[in-house]
Amino acid sequence: MGTILYLNGNIYTMDAAQPRAQAMAIDTGSGYILAVGTNDEVRRLGGQHTELVDLRRRTVLPGFIDAHIHLLGAAYRAHHIDAGGCTSEDEVASLVHERAVQTPEGRWILGGQWDKNRWPAGNFPDKVSLDAVAPGHPVALWSKDGHLLWVNSLALQRAGITAETPEPANGAILRDGSGEPTGILQEQEATNLVYSVIDQSSDTALTRMLVQRILKELQKSGITTIHDIEGMDALRLFQQLRDEGELGVRVQMILPRQVLPELRETWHPSAWHPQGMPLHVEGFDDMLGLGGIKIFADGTLGSQTAAMLESFEGSPDNYGILTLSEQEMNETVSAAAEMGLSIAIHAIGDRAAHVALNSIEKAQQHLAGNSETSRDLSSPRYRLEHVQLITPEDLERMRRLGVVASVQPFHAVADRDIAERYWGRRHRRAYAYRTIQQMGIPLALGSDAPVETFDPLRILYAATVRRDNATPQRPPWLPDQALPVAEALWGYTLGAAYAGAEEKRKGSLTAGKLGDAVVLRENILDVPQEKMAENGVQATILGGKIVYGEV
Ligand SMILES: [Zn+2]
Repeated sequence: MGTILYLNGNIYTMDAAQPRAQAMAIDTGSGYILAVGTNDEVRRLGGQHTELVDLRRRTVLPGFIDAHIHLLGAAYRAHHIDAGGCTSEDEVASLVHERAVQTPEGRWILGGQWDKNRWPAGNFPDKVSLDAVAPGHPVALWSKDGHLLWVNSLALQRAGITAETPEPANGAILRDGSGEPTGILQEQEATNLVYSVIDQSSDTALTRMLVQRILKELQKSGITTIHDIEGMDALRLFQQLRDEGELGVRVQMILPRQVLPELRETWHPSAWHPQGMPLHVEGFDDMLGLGGIKIFADGTLGSQTAAMLESFEGSPDNYGILTLSEQEMNETVSAAAEMGLSIAIHAIGDRAAHVALNSIEKAQQHLAGNSETSRDLSSPRYRLEHVQLITPEDLERMRRLGVVASVQPFHAVADRDIAERYWGRRHRRAYAYRTIQQMGIPLALGSDAPVETFDPLRILYAATVRRDNATPQRPPWLPDQALPVAEALWGYTLGAAYAGAEEKRKGSLTAGKLGDAVVLRENILDVPQEKMAENGVQATILGGKIVYGEV
């Protein structure tokens, strides 16, 4: 362990006090930055155990922070059936058939990524087509957005779902005229009925291998921190990898609201920062931390389950689904805020955003009036995830309450057609990132993988050009909402660090912060925007060490 000096770089620090630099010195023992400045200033820190790296004038940025990803989900995607390319229900069924032939009877067939919005009629699929190809296997396939589960008869049977099963309060079991389930379950309370009986624990070695593979892919993309929105199974695996020195990417866990009671029991304010340690987890550290809890306020646009103030275009009775009662949301947000935990609320429809902001406002008022809670805790971050449709009044409220907009710019370019189809004229004020940023609402960027790509350069292209780089023939979508490159980069670095309440140790290349950086082949602020997605990652630096590529 010693000091490593990176010299001769074109460094964009994202630190307003010193935006540009040539060189930086990092202590590879602790992983923290010792100095940032000119070659001469930094060279002074050299000593006996110093390693020198010539950056050869390449562009260096703080490592990318993906503020919204589901890593296990992304890892499994490579292994299970991937119906993402299917253009009809029959095509998905034939993939299931192929898998059934190679799978022992009775074993689950799992997969996802199907997207009915890409099929000719756009109707929900049903169990009949799956029964025809896999009558002896329970089948469960997630929709692209992860909010619908399409199952066959045997899966329904395993879960005990029949015509008599009562409707969940905040989800739906689609049924035919006689009340029989059709094989589509909407939102968590319904999908959990099946998901909870799937035995996934059987192959931990496989899961581990798939996760390690995807961690390498993240490094290759220049990502040094993720906010992983998943459960305890993911946390345990990350902990194991961390202990073995195999994690390779820093992880901030955002756990489901269901763990809140357990967190509360083992919570001691003094033990919380900087190394909170509830949950029978060994101390969190710089590689693995707790980023907060996740609450779902609604469903999605693609599944037409987003909670809307006005009904979906063409279906006057459908206002979507609020997946949590307002009462429960208020209680959960207040409980988490009181513990100093950050709160990430999934809100896609304008009604979901409205209800979520109500609960945030209540929690803030409650905290302000409660002197006992003004103790020395880093104040929680309140964040709305997605913010795809929101009223101007609620945007103003986000600004006033200091709520972070955690957005995934690839959704804007991937959803453009369905936004116009299901939201009609309202689409013009959807995915309004530039408005959000200009209002001074803190912006954090992310991917939402496996729903969309996690490649930051493709996402930055989507954010700044408002088009999928794979379809260059299409005109940009709502181009007045394109972010300037510098602002988009801020959202992927310091903005995302702020969303994770980690802006004091991540997000910019500043002495005293972690030495996480990405070296790009071209100068991203110089190169024509059209070429941004092709601008490759030359190397990724984590805690001063090169973990991918070479310079
Ligand atoms: Zn997500």
